[in-house]
Amino acid sequence: MSIHDSGGTPGLSLIVPCFNEEASIKHMYEEVLRVLEGEAGIRDLEFIFVDDGSKDATLEQIKKCAASDRRVHYISFSRNFGKEAALLAGFAASAGKYVVTLDADLQDPPALIPKMLDSVSGGECDCAAARRVTRNGELPIRSFFARCFYRLMAKTAEIDVVDGARDFRLMSRVYVDAILSLDERNRFSKGLFPWIGFKTKWFEYENIERGAGKTKWSFWRLVVYAFDGIFAFSSKPLAIASVLGILLFLASLILIAWIAIEKLLGHTVNVYGWASTVCIILLTSGIQLFSIGIVGQYIAKTYTEVKRRPHYIVRESS
Ligand code: UDP
Ligand code: MG
Repeated sequence: MSIHDSGGTPGLSLIVPCFNEEASIKHMYEEVLRVLEGEAGIRDLEFIFVDDGSKDATLEQIKKCAASDRRVHYISFSRNFGKEAALLAGFAASAGKYVVTLDADLQDPPALIPKMLDSVSGGECDCAAARRVTRNGELPIRSFFARCFYRLMAKTAEIDVVDGARDFRLMSRVYVDAILSLDERNRFSKGLFPWIGFKTKWFEYENIERGAGKTKWSFWRLVVYAFDGIFAFSSKPLAIASVLGILLFLASLILIAWIAIEKLLGHTVNVYGWASTVCIILLTSGIQLFSIGIVGQYIAKTYTEVKRRPHYIVRESS
């Protein structure tokens, strides 16, 4: 396999975001080398571990790997900035002609990397992405909400977010540079990848359960993430607010007409309208608050963008 670059840069950069992964690092590093070096003969590589403000011995574990292997580099954040920031830092630090992002917990099978590399280096595509076609090992309620999210995303967003797509991708340098050129603070990778375009080839695989440690995504964190995605890639929620407003306005016109007719017919309006009045007030004020909330979300996102704070702060790096 010829992935060598005449300029002495590594052929393949492996970016591994790590947050409290002390139990996984060493095993993951050895397993990746076993597959890439041992089985596929790919030696021209570099590891970039991004320690996303871990509170355990993750950084020590990474340093142990780095001490015996000069191809291992690391970046350590001053606090937890989130996986998106960790991936971005990895992209910025990567020198490889090809770049692959994979999780520290071996849920992304390294055995796929040689095949992905063949597709990208052979010019078949600019990005080889992995997509899990099963969700076994996951709580059914979680899978259900995940499916709902993808369906909602398909209906609202202008881009095509693929169900089951993981952040396990092998990309060409131009692809990575395109990702780096997007400077937004509200980073939602699942949307950024399809947004930049290029040719993507999908590799399907069965879900693999975590090797060690536990997932960093609580249900609530996933819900927030899902809404971030929708607000980052769609302005449809604003349109929903407007449509609700118009519908209510039309309903009020009908109501006014009805009251006027009642009056003209000489029917006296009795106090019996109390309950319906309260219902209408509750409904309209609820919808108003809901709509203001939607507008507020976009203002909040704009606020974080205009502050232009850095995506992450590095405490130390190799
Ligand atoms: N991760 C990270 N920062 C975070 C959360 C997660 O760098 O704030 C890393 C984590 O260490 C792992 C990858 O992102 O390597 C995926 O996380 P996890 O396995 O918890 O997610 P899941 O596979 O359950 O979706
Ligand atoms: Mg995982």
